[in-house]
Amino acid sequence: MGVVRQLIGTMILAATAHATPLQCVERYLGAHAEQRGGAWVAVLADGTALPYDRGVRSAAERLDDPAIKDIFATRYHTGPIKPVTDENEDPGRARVEALYRAAYPESKLVKATFMGHPVQVNDQVAPALARIAARVGKDPALAPFFAKLGGSHNDRVIAGTTRQSAHAWGIALDLNPALSHYWRWSKAGWQNKIPQKIVDAFEAEGFIWGGRWYHFDTMHFEYRPELLDGSCYP
Ligand SMILES: [Zn+2]
Repeated sequence: MGVVRQLIGTMILAATAHATPLQCVERYLGAHAEQRGGAWVAVLADGTALPYDRGVRSAAERLDDPAIKDIFATRYHTGPIKPVTDENEDPGRARVEALYRAAYPESKLVKATFMGHPVQVNDQVAPALARIAARVGKDPALAPFFAKLGGSHNDRVIAGTTRQSAHAWGIALDLNPALSHYWRWSKAGWQNKIPQKIVDAFEAEGFIWGGRWYHFDTMHFEYRPELLDGSCYP
């Protein structure tokens, strides 16, 4: 029954223009996509229906109270690190809180060790961190960036906002704050010291990096595999 419903749902999705983001929300974030009253919604396990599309919205609206579609409004690009100069270039900063809270619940937090430091993260994130440590741990030039961590799980809001931080879901990790730059502390615009090798290692495991944002936060890595899968964008 469930399988049939899922198959039909997938076929319907494949026939619509808005197919891919919702399919990715199903694949990566465990919500169920369906059509209600002519509009697509992502339904959580507790029955909450989240709208796919809320029409044309400003960048501020997309950030403060995003629809599913808004998560994918700005494409996340990997590759050579470069300064971000477009003030709307913040791929991944729009997060539908209820969606991520359901996908990464508190009950799935686990204790792990990353580069010698205790961390608390979601159980999908822990094995990804272990693979990253295996890749970057052998390079002594990278060690200072992991000498101290800014933090992992932390049930808090984003500084200066009422929005829940990805740290609250155990999907974010901050590297050494002493070697990092944050837009709120900077008067000089985009700056960065985090090496390409570290960024590449995290991105290869499904993490986005806060250094790809105009509102940069270069110590910040966040597990968002749905944004690193090119097929997820409309
Ligand atoms: Zn962070």
